[in-house]
Amino acid sequence: MKRSVRAVYPGSFDPITNGHIYIAERAAAIFDDMRVSILVNPHKSYTFSVEDRYEMASEALSHLPNVTVDHFMGLLVDYMRQQEAQVIIRGLRAMSDFEYEFQMALMNRQIAPEIETFFIITDANYSYLSSSAIRDIFQFGGAVQDVVPPGVFRRLRERFPARSPKTERDSGT
Ligand code: ADP
Repeated sequence: MKRSVRAVYPGSFDPITNGHIYIAERAAAIFDDMRVSILVNPHKSYTFSVEDRYEMASEALSHLPNVTVDHFMGLLVDYMRQQEAQVIIRGLRAMSDFEYEFQMALMNRQIAPEIETFFIITDANYSYLSSSAIRDIFQFGGAVQDVVPPGVFRRLRERFPARSPKTERDSGT
């Protein structure tokens, strides 16, 4: 009997970007069942509420039938065990990600040896892309439409109305 493998892609997704979506698509092509799981850390402040982050991710990933969006609090490995998931998905952009990810993966293996961390390399076009860069660029009026899904762009405009870059429609052209 074939064993089905469930993977969890955890992160803040504050907000989800095309870089995250790329990783989710590639993971969804490998694993039977995947959860994109939004971390809620009560000690951290986020730009978007968990409800907003959940909605943006659900909309952006609705084309992937074996992907569901979820959120969790607490230790990732506790959540993994509760979900009966075997694999943690993480994306790697540059060497700068590696050190942190390596440490996290070893720590998770120490506390849950049965769980594997699986790394997927980003697309070269997204290697500079992070949620924090998107928030910063948007707030300074920069164009981010090409690197976030439309629902994220809309919510950025709602969240930071004064900073919204003008669209052609707004400027009457
Ligand atoms: P965290 O708070 O865990 O860093 P993020 O939402 O920033 O959460 O990122 C979640 C995961 O997605 C991490 O493994 C991160 O390296 C990866 N990731 C973020 N942006 C990109 C991108 N542009 N390309 C590939 N992976 C990415």
